[in-house]
Amino acid sequence: MKLVLATSNKGKVREIKALCEDFEVIPYSELIEEFEIVEDGDTFKENALIKARAVFKALDSDEVIVIADDSGISVDALEGAPGIYSARHAGIGANDKDNLYKLIDDMKAKSIQSSSAHYTAAIAIVTKESEYCVHGWMHGSVIDETKGDGGFGYDPMFIPKGYDKTLGQLEDDVKKKLSHRSKALSLAKIILKTI
Ligand code: IMP
Repeated sequence: MKLVLATSNKGKVREIKALCEDFEVIPYSELIEEFEIVEDGDTFKENALIKARAVFKALDSDEVIVIADDSGISVDALEGAPGIYSARHAGIGANDKDNLYKLIDDMKAKSIQSSSAHYTAAIAIVTKESEYCVHGWMHGSVIDETKGDGGFGYDPMFIPKGYDKTLGQLEDDVKKKLSHRSKALSLAKIILKTI
């Protein structure tokens, strides 16, 4: 089954391809020119559906199945920030490194060395006839420094529950088993098999 992915974020594309080996996963930017999608929803779910619907409409084909991932990290000591604003925490156009170091600066500014935190992923599926959205979460903690350079985004400062190393230091297989994205995708795959 061919799935069109409504993102060109390299970290997400790599992980989703590795987690969906039974499907042919194609980033939409390989089919049409990339365009800006205004993510103005109030929740991960709304933003995932906004992205999937926008790409489904732009592809203009009844045959495709589009999936979108909207995700982010929420830090308890920062009242859940950056949450749905994770991709633009350091401002519009910020890259992963800018956002990572901005979150570390926020923690240092409040003298927080460590805080419980969690990642959320909402995966939306849009077809001609139907729309779905499922979620997954990964709990753990964040620290006020980076360790390792594996994964992407905030991974070098995130320690999954039950571990004492960051996702930047742990093998890819650990994240593959535990992540918010892998949990949401296992639910999404059940839906995809019924379509
Ligand atoms: P989105 O593309 O609007 O969903 O933004 C997601 C942002 O959340 C990314 O740019 C990353 O900063 C962060 N993020 C989401 N999932 C992960 C992950 O698995 N590891 C690290 N950062 C993540």
